[in-house]
Amino acid sequence: MGRRTVELVATVLGSAIGKDFAGDLLAPGDAGYDEARTLWNADIDRRPRLIARCRSATDVVAAVRLARERDLRLSVRGGGHGVGGHAVVEDGLMIDLSPMKGVRADPAPRTVRAEAGVVLGELDAACQAYSLATPAGIVTHTGISGLTLGGGIGWLMRKHGATVDNLLSAEVVTADGTLVTASDEHEPELFWGLRGGGGNFGVVTSFEYRAHEVGPEVVAGVVAYPIENAGEVLRGYRDAVADAPDELTTILTLRRVPALQTYPEEHWGRPVVNVAACWCGDFAQGEVVLRPLRTLGSPAYDLLRVQPFVDLQRMFDPSVPWGWHYYWKTWEVPSLEDGAIDLLVDAAADLPSPQSYVIVFQLGGAIARVPEDATAYPQRDAAFNVNINGVWLPGEDRASPVQWVRSLHAKLEPFAAGRAYVNFLGDEPQKLVRDMYGGEKYARLVALKDRYDPENVFRLNQNILPSRA
Ligand SMILES: Cc1cc2nc3c(=O)[nH]c(=O)nc-3n(C[C@H](O)[C@H](O)[C@H](O)COP(=O)(O)OP(=O)(O)OC[C@H]3O[C@@H](n4cnc5c(N)ncnc54)[C@H](O)[C@@H]3O)c2cc1C
Repeated sequence: MGRRTVELVATVLGSAIGKDFAGDLLAPGDAGYDEARTLWNADIDRRPRLIARCRSATDVVAAVRLARERDLRLSVRGGGHGVGGHAVVEDGLMIDLSPMKGVRADPAPRTVRAEAGVVLGELDAACQAYSLATPAGIVTHTGISGLTLGGGIGWLMRKHGATVDNLLSAEVVTADGTLVTASDEHEPELFWGLRGGGGNFGVVTSFEYRAHEVGPEVVAGVVAYPIENAGEVLRGYRDAVADAPDELTTILTLRRVPALQTYPEEHWGRPVVNVAACWCGDFAQGEVVLRPLRTLGSPAYDLLRVQPFVDLQRMFDPSVPWGWHYYWKTWEVPSLEDGAIDLLVDAAADLPSPQSYVIVFQLGGAIARVPEDATAYPQRDAAFNVNINGVWLPGEDRASPVQWVRSLHAKLEPFAAGRAYVNFLGDEPQKLVRDMYGGEKYARLVALKDRYDPENVFRLNQNILPSRA
């Protein structure tokens, strides 16, 4: 059991963790071990030597020190959504933050503080109790931790910025096992790097965010068009959103309609272009702004309506559940050129499985107005993010979805010029990480890595290589 393992580690390994650590330490064979090493992406199957299920920052300090003492490779798990599975390490020590669930919104200064194991649905629930929200992602079972450290894009970003633009401070356990607060006032360079540099600089144990008045209702949902008209719809869409107000954020998916009650049954299984939208402003103005998106052709169905913000946040949840297999590749593009649209349309006509899809996020707005050097989060001038998602069920063919993703990704490369979004990367060559940040920003991240983690203790991520490596 967890406690037995703590005592075993303390005596057999001669470690101080026994007295400092109040969480559960799990080894293979312990109850809960397999559950704790399981991530969202069932394609990842790794067996850590130990899993430190932490309940507090003090536990995290003890776990980092144990890994250093015993020279164990270290991984850090927040919500477990990272598609590449860096959160779980083979034969090393996995720090599992998922028991750290404290979250509290404060309506007076409009802030929210959340521990590292909180997922987006829990953050929204705490904030919406006061009709507040912090911009985050679009699936409620995503962890705030990884999402925040990589940037955080979602329905509110064009109005209120990325998640990193709303981060006020973070508590971090650094590679030497010290707990520090990073903010504009304390450790400002570390705070800069945490906002987009991923998990490279330490284990964040809690986040403090700015919150905004949102909802409780927004005008949102999805209008779908048959795939046969995809080219015309995508071109019309591109023109319709070109000068959209910040209150509007749109997300396209090219996919087969999932067999879910959300969608009309007669369309289940049919390939469509879903134009999903969120308008977080005045309802009457929203109706006017949304009208062009409803008339890009003859819709298969139109589910755009006034609805609770938290319902919108849950809309995509059941179409990307835990336990399926996923393979992603991604680019960010400065514009949706005709050539890129043609490639998307061709790929949508050739989906390798009923669950595979391409998702296109409209960026810009408030994100693009933050100066590029204000945070480590790169490429604020990108107009769209394209994420290609191969999906298959346990036991099903892996090769076709993976090949489909790789093929479309390679064809889209000329439109992207090496730009990507760190949170959508799986296992990619280090060069892509460097290219993604660009020379100047990467050099600043390396300097920060040299200062806070020169031995690259935190390497299971989209890694910033310290100079000595
Ligand atoms: C279904 C789905 C939907 C998504 N939607 C969006 C979206 O709308 N917008 C968006 O921006 N992203 C989205 N993402 C991507 C998401 O931001 C990343 O997968 C992110 O890594 C998830 O964070 P996590 O804590 O759940 O992941 P984990 O797998 O737990 O962590 C990923 C990595 O982050 C680092 N890390 C995690 N927690 C910490 C911590 N506390 N301290 C230091 N390092 C840490 C580690 O390196 C870890 O390997 C989505 C992902 C999925 C699977």
